[in-house]
Amino acid sequence: MIIQGHEIFAPLKLKTHSVVVGSGAGGGVAAYHMAAAGLETVVLEEGGYFQAKDFNQREEDMMPALYRSKGQQTTTDGMIYVWQGSTFGGSTVINTADATPIEAEVLHHWQQKFGLSELTEDNLAASYKRVYKMLNVHRLEDQILNANNKLLLETANRLGYKAGVFESNRKNCVGSGYCFQGCAYDAKQGTNLTYLPKASELGARIYTDVRVDRIERLFGGKYRVHATVVARGSRKARHPVEIDCERIIMAAGTVHTPAILKRSGFDKGLPQLGKNISLQPQIGLSAVMPDSQKMTSWRGAPQSIYMSEFDDNHAEHGLGGFRMEGVGGMVGIFSHFGNTIGHDHKRLMAEYPNTHFSALLVPDQPSGTLDWEWGPDGKVKPKIQYKLTEEWKQRFKRGYKTAAEFLFEAGAREINCNSPVFGPITSPDQLSRIDEFPLEPGMVALTSAHVQGSCRIGLNADVGVVDQNLQLHNLDNIFVVDGSVMPTTASTHTMVPIMVMADRAMHKLAQGA
Ligand SMILES: Cc1cc2nc3c(=O)[nH]c(=O)nc-3n(C[C@H](O)[C@H](O)[C@H](O)COP(=O)(O)OP(=O)(O)OC[C@H]3O[C@@H](n4cnc5c(N)ncnc54)[C@H](O)[C@@H]3O)c2cc1C
Ligand code: SF4
Repeated sequence: MIIQGHEIFAPLKLKTHSVVVGSGAGGGVAAYHMAAAGLETVVLEEGGYFQAKDFNQREEDMMPALYRSKGQQTTTDGMIYVWQGSTFGGSTVINTADATPIEAEVLHHWQQKFGLSELTEDNLAASYKRVYKMLNVHRLEDQILNANNKLLLETANRLGYKAGVFESNRKNCVGSGYCFQGCAYDAKQGTNLTYLPKASELGARIYTDVRVDRIERLFGGKYRVHATVVARGSRKARHPVEIDCERIIMAAGTVHTPAILKRSGFDKGLPQLGKNISLQPQIGLSAVMPDSQKMTSWRGAPQSIYMSEFDDNHAEHGLGGFRMEGVGGMVGIFSHFGNTIGHDHKRLMAEYPNTHFSALLVPDQPSGTLDWEWGPDGKVKPKIQYKLTEEWKQRFKRGYKTAAEFLFEAGAREINCNSPVFGPITSPDQLSRIDEFPLEPGMVALTSAHVQGSCRIGLNADVGVVDQNLQLHNLDNIFVVDGSVMPTTASTHTMVPIMVMADRAMHKLAQGA
């Protein structure tokens, strides 16, 4: 059963066995496993319930409806946009449906550095099988690859570089190109179309427009969840909600899971809570191609091809180097990549059909922390503090130079990125300018779609927040199953890694239920 906030007219008091907080990648998987085990399960999701008919493909409507802070959440210095979904299905509703596993080298790194001996490829194999089946993961069909993405593959093939077509969780995709705005064709197999409806069929009650504020510990090892029904859009408080339960599964994402735990006073004894955040910052590059080379980046699967020649899976933190991925589908946002106004902007927009867009992804070491700001309502709010390391900056510049060289090789006439002070590069002999690229607040806008790590797994509370079964170190029966548990960046895309980790822990828990 799905109950939307506007269907609730009075304060609510409920009792259940398990409460799942958040309905995205981790929350959907947890809700399904709890319900499948026959446990009375309630899911609380702060965002609204939207369906295919509501996804109108307009950025100005869909960003406020589906994204945390309307897509304007940034690090405290304003330098990195941190995109997260906030709706029934979480970020799986607005993502580009690329399905990548946790890199073997990353698992190896976690075993070596953090002693996580249970997280082996063998131990995760059954979870991959279950997750891939539920999501219909398969290699993208050729007919939905667009010219924008294929440019990467063709150029890489010519240069002898490693590149490939993504696997994806789609079914009957028509290649509309609107993945970032929610799929109006029910093709993208997010948790909104898979795990959550199945959990609901199995008896789970899913409340949308209900924000969890804090958790209270009751006598006898039980818990009371304090939440609020909020108005859709403004998210203003409407009615209080209290739910008594035996088990809580946190899946509010890397920023909000630790905030709820902190508000509940559960940070005592968890020195790593809110720390060790990876953002995997990326920059969008736009390359104006010859007029005859139409890219039509707004149609087809937005992100379907990667060029991985410069990945470094032996990096100190398991995933290093840099890679390029084609990307499209957000004309409003991407039109800023040239960071121009007036006549220059008009000129670049006239070139839009023959402009190639790709993201330069540069994996990072965990180098962010949540800072707590006390609001006037007495509630703590999380702020994302993040500092680019010198090593990352140097790697970024190497990556940018390589990507620009690559794009000139592909035929680019002009390359732009989202910096108001760094003008276009118009020929390969200008590449040395990248050494001076301004990686400072106000000088460039980077983006993160893969925030991870504020409740990382560790063998004890000195080094981590949860154990290898994803249970809090300091309290029984509270689990965390979202992106926050990753010790370091898991992959270049995080949905499947989160789901697989959640599946392993929740399947095991359900078996013992
Ligand atoms: C634009 C974009 C594109 C992406 N593309 C890809 C891709 O192609 N492939 C890929 O693998 N990954 C991609 N990702 C990343 C991937 O989707 C996320 O890493 C993943 O969904 C995160 O899962 P999660 O469970 O941590 O949180 P989410 O899926 O973000 O879900 C968290 C949910 O918790 C809710 N919540 C938060 N606070 C509260 C509260 N107090 N009370 C109740 N509910 C709360 C939120 O509203 C949200 O719905 C993309 C992400 C974005 C933003
Ligand atoms: S390209 Fe269009 S049809 Fe395909 S998954 Fe994305 S939004 Fe849905």
